[in-house]
Amino acid sequence: MRLQGKTALITAAGQGIGKASALAMAAEGAQVWATDVNAKLLDGYAGMPNIHTVALDVLDKAAIRKVIADMPALDVLFNCAGFVHAGTVLQATDEEWEFAFNLNVRSQFWTIQAALPRMLANNGGKGSGSIINMASVVSVKGVPNRFIYGASKAAVIGLSKSVAADFVTQGVRCNAVCPGTVDTPSLQERINVYEDPAEARKNFVARQPMGRLAQAHEIAPLVVFLASDESAFITGQSYSIDGGMTI
Ligand code: NAD
Repeated sequence: MRLQGKTALITAAGQGIGKASALAMAAEGAQVWATDVNAKLLDGYAGMPNIHTVALDVLDKAAIRKVIADMPALDVLFNCAGFVHAGTVLQATDEEWEFAFNLNVRSQFWTIQAALPRMLANNGGKGSGSIINMASVVSVKGVPNRFIYGASKAAVIGLSKSVAADFVTQGVRCNAVCPGTVDTPSLQERINVYEDPAEARKNFVARQPMGRLAQAHEIAPLVVFLASDESAFITGQSYSIDGGMTI
């Protein structure tokens, strides 16, 4: 039970990597606050005693502050919410840029700003906490048609390093995870907009040197590790978990 005694907040936990991570953290003994903008998706957690569900839109700063203030304790924050914009710089609009940066980056600024004072107060005021931010393989590798996504997910790495540097002596760690292509509901939605979805799926698989997509439950163990005290000496790092995409 690597997370026994820890309380974790996860954004976008309704499906995909966020949900797999919530289940994995709960299995390791954490009390998990699983949040998502889509409250219906959270019904899937019914009957799980150490998973508490709260509807939370990470674009709503006041709501973030309230959810965090209402938690009985806070040791782990997993910022999983994010949005994939498709297109090159020539196709991007100001509105799309703003939306993606708000969801992929500003939401992490807001949750961390609300969570940090609680983490700094842990351990009798000595501070204790782990923040894990969702970046992407496109944070570190150029991928076609991911101009806004790549820019916003690269910002997540800078944001994470900055928080790590500021609080390295105060017990709070901050790291980023960079998955390759993961077979989640939103990936399927992105595939479905192509004229030939089967061909589109083949092309997504072709980007992966292992010849397959990841499953969400293959990303969750890295999140659990970074949440746990096993990673106590690790901060300010970004971890690729991408089936070899960045070899
Ligand atoms: P998903 O995209 O299938 O699900 C995303 C969840 O986010 C949904 O439950 C949705 O309701 C929720 N959400 C959307 N807007 C929200 C908001 N404003 N507030 C709170 N929740 C909101 O899940 P996924 O594919 O596992 O992606 C999760 C994260 O992982 C994202 O940040 C994504 O960019 C990142 N990521 C995904 C992949 C991939 O291939 N799937 C790869 C690398 C990184």
